[in-house]
Amino acid sequence: MVFSLLPMQAYGVERVQQQEDFGVLPIEGELEVNVFLYDISLSWFQARDLTHLHQLLRDTKVIRPSAKSQLYSKGREFVPFEFEVSLRLFVPPTEVQQEYRSLLNSMVSKTPFQIAQQAVEFASTYGMPLAWTDQTIRARDALYVFSYLTEKYFPETAGKYAIFLFCGIPAMGGNRPAIYYTYGQSPDTGAYLADFGLSIYGGAWWGRYFYVDLCSYPPQKFYQQLKPIFEYGTATERVYHVAQLIDIIIDMEFVKSLTYKPRYNVQTLFDVIVIDATVAGVGYDIIVRYFDPELLSKAFRTLVPYNFFTTRLREVELKDVPELSQAIQYTPQGILLLPEKAYDVLKRRGIIDESIREVMDYVPAIILFTTTTSYVDEPGVLGAAIDRRDDPSLPLAASGATYYEELIKSGLTALLIHEIGHALGLRHPHDDFDEYRNSKASFFALTYFTETVMSYSRSWVVGFNREEIFEELYPIRTFWSIFDLDNVDRAVVCLLLHEYEQDYREIIHSLSSAGLDLGEVPEIGEALDLARRYSLMALEEFRDHNYFDRASFKGLGAQLVSAFD
Ligand SMILES: [Zn+2]
Repeated sequence: MVFSLLPMQAYGVERVQQQEDFGVLPIEGELEVNVFLYDISLSWFQARDLTHLHQLLRDTKVIRPSAKSQLYSKGREFVPFEFEVSLRLFVPPTEVQQEYRSLLNSMVSKTPFQIAQQAVEFASTYGMPLAWTDQTIRARDALYVFSYLTEKYFPETAGKYAIFLFCGIPAMGGNRPAIYYTYGQSPDTGAYLADFGLSIYGGAWWGRYFYVDLCSYPPQKFYQQLKPIFEYGTATERVYHVAQLIDIIIDMEFVKSLTYKPRYNVQTLFDVIVIDATVAGVGYDIIVRYFDPELLSKAFRTLVPYNFFTTRLREVELKDVPELSQAIQYTPQGILLLPEKAYDVLKRRGIIDESIREVMDYVPAIILFTTTTSYVDEPGVLGAAIDRRDDPSLPLAASGATYYEELIKSGLTALLIHEIGHALGLRHPHDDFDEYRNSKASFFALTYFTETVMSYSRSWVVGFNREEIFEELYPIRTFWSIFDLDNVDRAVVCLLLHEYEQDYREIIHSLSSAGLDLGEVPEIGEALDLARRYSLMALEEFRDHNYFDRASFKGLGAQLVSAFD
């Protein structure tokens, strides 16, 4: 963004337009979605050429022409912006395709022994020869190949939203599908966690890129939605499948709104309250062993570097607060935490002190710790955020339920980062409110492998070690996906612009009520002029999808230490 390109407006001079001049919302812009086809035959779709394939995809009417965001999950208006989706298809030239094959093939290596067992399980669910899972590809290495080729041969699309559709079979020598995995170690416990069959993957260090290997096998639970392309019988079905994948990636990864209004330039206290409901009262020492408050703060410093966080950890034993049993139910599926009830009990007891909100933002995180399976709200759900009653656009508290076995596998820190991530507005990659169709959407299969602490996969654990690796390409120093960062940043820019508009309106209104106009109060005119210049800068950055370039937002108060610095 070049400063001198901004229209310099002297408010004293153009007084006539002042009343209308503050409006910058809703924002409109273009969302370029670049789709690259590597080793994909147009004949699978009965397409004559690329233009024809583009037409076929458009004719399905599945791919949204517009990606917008204006809602919270509960239907309140916020973050009003709209991108016109422009879909561009690319078939790289033969030499580039050859380079792709040899690069992808060079990424094949022996599966790490720590995760060999998971590999064997994957092979046996599909009745694959075991030898196939001995030589596999780490998902991020495959994404690296596409990132590298894009920077080298398509620099005009580098860093923009891109989907790489490919078939890994030719690169594997033409006789078997490629098998992708991620794995990592829990930072708290050292346990190895792994996922196999990442036929779809993205959101990691390599930029705003997402790949889909149309020829590989997904984890079996996703087989119905992500069958290899050759198992779709007709060309029409294949076109439809690809159109659906593209549309869902645009909606659920590239453009997505937040659950809660983001906060800006505030101090927040994370007040972690662990309710110990273990049979033996396993105790505070174990919780402390599996909790790293510094990692928790670091996580949020990289996500929202314009805010400040403090963490407090406390334990509440059931025997000391027997009323808490109203918030805990023993069900056949495990122990259920009712977070709103728990909140009320803890508040009555003075353990949660809402008066803290007078001096700083306050997010209690209520964690139930049990000996056997436990959950929040419904079976399988490990945590949830609850709304503030006076302002449902803000969270009241984060909540979570964990049991001993889960805790020693994944750790308390990761659980807390995930749950507080919800409380700050982030969604799971698989949950969405579809603002374009005005409907709720969910596509677990596609988004399971977005590499973020907000997904249900285990793959994010590698992110904890991210700093040392991948410095050059797209150095995100965090374990949130680039899409999380984009979504939060986008919402924050909208919030700031929204506040600017409101302030402007109020100032003009106050002046005119006092019988003054801007020309008579030059200092105010200058201040508004500066504010307007910053808001226009922010708007330009927004349209360029350059949310992370926080240097441009310095004037709006952003800190300069972010996930990219
Ligand atoms: Zn969650």
